[in-house]
Amino acid sequence: MEKKLAGQIAIITGASSGIGAGVAKSLSISGATVVINHPVEATKAAAEMVLAEIKNTGGEGITYQCDVSKEDEVMKMFADVITQFGTVDILINNAGLQRDSPFTEMTLEQWDLVISVNLTGQFLCAREAIKEFLRRGIVPEKSKAAGKIICMSSVHEVIPWSGHANYAASKGGIMLLMKSIAQEFAPKKIRVNSICPGAIQTPINKAAWGTPEALQSLLTLIPYQRIGQPEDIGKAAVWLASDDSDYITGTSIFIDGGMTLYPGFSTNG
Ligand code: NAD
Repeated sequence: MEKKLAGQIAIITGASSGIGAGVAKSLSISGATVVINHPVEATKAAAEMVLAEIKNTGGEGITYQCDVSKEDEVMKMFADVITQFGTVDILINNAGLQRDSPFTEMTLEQWDLVISVNLTGQFLCAREAIKEFLRRGIVPEKSKAAGKIICMSSVHEVIPWSGHANYAASKGGIMLLMKSIAQEFAPKKIRVNSICPGAIQTPINKAAWGTPEALQSLLTLIPYQRIGQPEDIGKAAVWLASDDSDYITGTSIFIDGGMTLYPGFSTNG
């Protein structure tokens, strides 16, 4: 297989499970050295398992504990990775969580936690990545771009979601964060795009696929009639990080089996 990301260093936030782990594996297969970020001591073992799997298939990488909502921790992660590997070429802004609640019962704590991890975390990591991309500039043997950022958004950057106002607000915020920095840094050859997953089978949404009844109900929202897998996202992330997508910046790519096609209207509304 062609190693389209050979020699490139990728930080993947929230990569000890789910989509982040899948993306880390896909980037590694394509030749990137991967930094498997995880937030706390309790997620270290899972991150090490992802790394072991990557090393078993001949890949390279490290695990790194850092809470993406904490400015000092994010700055230290980038500084340490740059010291160890010389630079960072790709950032996958993937870490995210949900704290669901009917709106009138939503606490400020639930609101703040989701915004601070899902949105502020993406700001902090993107800022540190772009500083490094600007410092290093383009290395033509590696990539036509000076750096690539992929923001893990969601179909909920466009689909409203009652009972999840904090989560939907964070993803809507990611859309214009992504587009604003894509616009600001396109002249510097930094590409910034989002992936908007639909329903992907991971721990974050186990309630939606954990029983046959739940899965059947979920499938009514998915015209393509299957739940997505982390590899579906991983393949697109490799493409978005590679020069195959060199003319693409400021775009949200929906990977959702048609969830955003208003399936409720498929039988004449
Ligand atoms: P997941 O729960 O498996 O992954 C989320 C990861 O984020 C976990 O590994 C967790 O440890 C990490 N994380 C949480 N707080 C963190 C912090 N403060 N610092 C660093 N890491 C932290 O779920 P997932 O489905 O793999 O979610 C990954 C991303 O994809 C999220 O941004 C989520 O919103 C998005 N997404 C998922 C789906 C889906 O259907 N699974 C759909 C749309 C969007």
